[in-house]
Amino acid sequence: MILPDGSFPWPDGYRAAASFTFDVDAESCVLVNDPGASSRMSLMGHQAYGPRVGTPRLLRLLERQDIRATFFVPGYTAECYPDIVRAIVDGGHEIAHHGYLHEPMQGVDESTEAGYLDRGLEALARVGASPVGYRAPWWEMNWHTPRLLADRGFRYDSSLLDDDVPYRLASSGPGSASLIEIPVDWALDDWEQYAFYPGWTGSGVIEDPQKALRMWGLEARARHAEGGCFVLTNHPFLSGRPAKAHALEQLIEQTKDLEGMWVTTLQEIAAHAESVCGSARVPERISEVPA
Ligand SMILES: [Zn+2]
Repeated sequence: MILPDGSFPWPDGYRAAASFTFDVDAESCVLVNDPGASSRMSLMGHQAYGPRVGTPRLLRLLERQDIRATFFVPGYTAECYPDIVRAIVDGGHEIAHHGYLHEPMQGVDESTEAGYLDRGLEALARVGASPVGYRAPWWEMNWHTPRLLADRGFRYDSSLLDDDVPYRLASSGPGSASLIEIPVDWALDDWEQYAFYPGWTGSGVIEDPQKALRMWGLEARARHAEGGCFVLTNHPFLSGRPAKAHALEQLIEQTKDLEGMWVTTLQEIAAHAESVCGSARVPERISEVPA
């Protein structure tokens, strides 16, 4: 539901929302494309830094700032680092689903994708987590994905890039089961700012954290002014490093200072959206591409 003035009905006392989210990809996003990368000691360490050093630093930061966040954890990360998953839960944060081995979903058929989802769910269940939220690896959704999520009882997804506020998404046709979509934005992902590893990823440029702070701060203020939803995606192997974490803490302070900004988990935003979003948006797939 959108109010007559075009704004989203946030809970009383709030005019916009912000959520700080962390994708704990660790080694999974490297190994899924190249299992042989396990032989690269330095690259594996670069990724393991996320759960080993970055996430504990970020948990301390979040505790200092007294906010709760959402952590998307691939099943393989949960198997390799069960203690850090428990530390995230102990900090009062949300654990959500992010594939098993961070599988690329582009072009994947429904039964294969269902297998990835279930394997991820089983791995998270073994560390005591039962997620209600999902984020597709690389934010790559297929047209059948919402149905797979609804079938498994997920309440929200945060992978699509087609709005500034949450909405109700039909899992298939009209009248089908629905879930809440909380959209994301590549401009609000630390990968684009900081990721660089020779022979694996990135442009070779690692941006100044003050530049990222400036850019994301402007996004937070603009979304606050419009009554929107600011969803930042960070990776502990990147933003868990000292200067980047320092800039992130400044951003959190600035965001908390915006009057009426609701800083919370995606699960809380989804629960509110469920209570105010009316009819579901049916995904419209282009059936015929002009020659
Ligand atoms: Zn990821």
